[in-house]
This record gives sequence, structure tokens and C-alpha cells, in this order.
Amino acid sequence: MRNPVAQSSESFDVSVIGAGPAGATVANLTAAAGLRTLLVERSPEPQLKVGESLMPATYWTLERLGVLDRMRESAFPKKFSVQFFGSNGQGSAPFYFRDADPHESSQTWQVRREEFDSLLCAAAAECGADVRWGRAVREVRFEGERAVGLLVDGPEGPVSVSSQVVVDASGQSALLAGRLGLRTPDPCLRNAAYWCHVRGARLDDGDDAGATLIFHTAEKRSWFWLIPLPDGLVSVGVVGSVEYLVRKDEGGPARVFDDELALCPALAERLVAAERVGPMRVSRDFSYRVDRVAGDGWVAVGDAAGFIDPIYSSGVFLALKSGEMAADAIVEALEAGDPSGERLGAWVGEYGQGMEAVRRLVYAFYDPKFSFARFVDAYPELRSDIIHVLTGNVYGRSNEPLARALDAYQGVEAAPAGGVV
Ligand SMILES: Cc1cc2nc3c(=O)[nH]c(=O)nc-3n(C[C@H](O)[C@H](O)[C@H](O)COP(=O)(O)OP(=O)(O)OC[C@H]3O[C@@H](n4cnc5c(N)ncnc54)[C@H](O)[C@@H]3O)c2cc1C
Repeated sequence: MRNPVAQSSESFDVSVIGAGPAGATVANLTAAAGLRTLLVERSPEPQLKVGESLMPATYWTLERLGVLDRMRESAFPKKFSVQFFGSNGQGSAPFYFRDADPHESSQTWQVRREEFDSLLCAAAAECGADVRWGRAVREVRFEGERAVGLLVDGPEGPVSVSSQVVVDASGQSALLAGRLGLRTPDPCLRNAAYWCHVRGARLDDGDDAGATLIFHTAEKRSWFWLIPLPDGLVSVGVVGSVEYLVRKDEGGPARVFDDELALCPALAERLVAAERVGPMRVSRDFSYRVDRVAGDGWVAVGDAAGFIDPIYSSGVFLALKSGEMAADAIVEALEAGDPSGERLGAWVGEYGQGMEAVRRLVYAFYDPKFSFARFVDAYPELRSDIIHVLTGNVYGRSNEPLARALDAYQGVEAAPAGGVV
């Protein structure tokens, strides 16, 4: 009979749950700093995932992780801009990232996530992290309030792992936030997404061929993304409120997608000759705050520390950024022999400020009265501030002028207060 208690025990300085961008970043940097690091992932291999369009500011973390050359040599399409199409089908001028920050970093990539995650994990392993695929973490082990390790599924039964620091990088599973009751849905962003890959979509030329295009549907009740991927694949998804989209789901997910596409002639025209490749995927209720992202012996990063919304493709950037900031805090905390929540979460205030700058522009996007074109007409001097947010340049600069102008323009108070991030 299988023994339900842990079969064996292993010891690490840092154990990381989840081999997405956040987990791979922490594992890379803590292992490179000489800490014995375990990275455990429940999937047997890297998976196709949503989250394919990067923000340019990922450049700096990718540089630190030592993967920029691999990105440059990859087949990932180059992304120079984002362009928004209104409900009347009219396109804004493309927001070229180089207009705000002319540097190599103002170009980024559109990625296939199974390849991107795999590349990040390979780099973490090269730095010395022990990366294990196909191993689900059952639970985080606590002694009192302090996290002391993991219980991980193994071929012979559960394995107990001890570590000085546990990093929750489990994405939307948000293992620790769920267990500790720290997850609060964002009531302003109760959205769902229906998305798939297609082949044969019409793309623009030159530098615009790799752009992310965002299309409002008629009446602005939903919006589509179009993200060019390698080998002629294109990711297309529609996002709208759960209330609006899911109630239309009786005919199946593909029907929801097609019905919304019929409300979006500017995109439909680009997809006339396109064929779907693979299933229609559905994701919902993905926006939430996490009220506390660090405690004694643990810290959460990436989506496990909160998720805003996909509109500006900020998720992977914030996963990399939080992974980087948390890794630095872990190294300092363990050097000082003090893995307390205070030390492990020393980065959270600064991180939360950048996240709020993105969130403020997200709330504007979902305001039916808001229009980027009219806002830029009213505040031409803030066009580059908008590009800075779309680029992910929200750290080390003031995001206040844009936030104040958005408040004045929309005639509302600042976004509803919530947790730290
Ligand atoms: C509809 C939609 C569209 C999006 N589009 C974009 C976009 O275009 N650009 C962008 O940047 N972001 C986008 N995002 C967000 C992006 O997908 C995430 O922010 C990003 O993947 C977060 O990275 P992560 O490392 O935190 O989590 P993930 O990439 O989700 O990785 C978490 C990993 O943890 C593993 N895991 C979970 N539980 C366990 C367990 N118990 N044991 C072991 N392993 C476990 C999972 O299998 C997974 O591999 C989108 C999100 C949504 C919902």
C-alpha cells in the first residue's frame, strides 16, 4: 500500500513552484548567486499558453537572465508597436515604442510560450537550478506562520522538500494566496477570453508586420487581440465581461468567437482567408489582487502575486520584473540570515507602484467613454507617457502626470484602492 506521508526529504536554499517566466527568473538569479535552487513544474514539458506578446521593457530582465542572444536568434516576430482600432474600424496611428525610448530595447518579440518558457528554464538550469518537470507541488509546508518547504508529488509518492525560502510562481493557480485567503477578484475587470491560433491572416508590412493589433467590436462590449507568431501562425482572442460573453456560450466557444468577429469588420477582413489551427481556448476571471505577497519564509511572484488584465500585454513583463526583484530580495535576506516576510517583500511597494500605473490605463481602456485618440488630442504632451506604459517603462520614472490627466479627463477619482498590487 502507498504510504501517504512523504517518502524522502531533500534540502534547498530556495524552492520555486512553477516554471513559467516568473519562476524561471527567480530560479536563474538565485542559482547564479550560488543558492541551491529547486524549480518544480507540474507539466511534463513546456506548454502552449496564453501570454504571447511581450512588452519592450522585458529587455532588461532578459539581458540579466543571459537570454537576449537566444531571443535575437529566434524566429519570434519582432514587435515595434501597438495599434488600436476603434469600434468604427478606424485605426489610431501605431504607438511605436521607439518614439518614447529610441534604443534596442524598444523592439521586443511575439513568442510561442512553450518555446519561450523552455528557453528561460534552460537558462535557469545552466545557472545551476535543479529544474524538475512533471512534478506537482501538493502543498507548501508551514511550521506555525513560517513556510519551511514543499510537499511534491514523486513517482514513488510525495517527497518532502525543505527550503529556507518558498517562492510561489504557480501563475493563476496562486497556490499560497488561495491557501491563505489572500486573493481578491477585481470587480472592475471580471472578464473572459476566447482565443485560438490561425494561419493565413492578413498582416501589415515591414516594421508593422509584427505589431500587436487591438480591435474594439461595435458598441465596445468586447475587444480582439491579433498577435503574429512564428511560421505564419497568428494568435487571435476576444475579451469581454464574463457576464456578456459567457452567457452567449450555449453554442460553444467557437460560436462566441465568431459572433463577436461579426461585430468587428476591421479584423474579420484580415481573417477572410484564415483557418483555425487547434482548439478554441477559454479563460475567465483572471484579474485579481493578492493582498499580501510575502511572509516569513515565502514570497509570491508573477500571476501568483496578482494579475491585471491582458489588454496591454503586461503579464509576462510583470512576471519577469517581480521575479527579478524577489530574487534580489531573497539573496539579500539569506546573506543576512533573515528570511522574514519583511525582507522577502522589501520590493513590493516599488513593484506595486509600477503595476498601478498599468492598471490605471487599463481602467481607462474599459471606460466606454474613453478614446485614446481624443485623449491624445487633449493632452498631446502625454503621448510619450502613454507609450512608456505600453512599453513597460513604469519603474524609475514618475507615472503621476498621466494618472492625474486620466483622472481629470475621465472625471473620476483614482482607481479603486485594493491590496498591495
Ligand atoms: C487571456 C489572456 C491573455 C494574455 N495575453 C498576454 C500577452 O499577450 N502578453 C503578456 O505578457 N501576458 C499576457 N497574459 C498574461 C500572462 O499569460 C501571464 O501574466 C504570465 O504567463 C505569468 O507568468 P507566471 O510565470 O507568473 O505564470 P505562468 O506562466 O502561468 O506559469 C506558472 C506555472 O506554474 C505551474 N504550476 C501551477 N501550479 C503548480 C503546482 N501545484 N506545482 C507545480 N507547478 C505548478 C503551471 O503549470 C505553470 O507552468 C495573458 C493572460 C490572459 C488571461
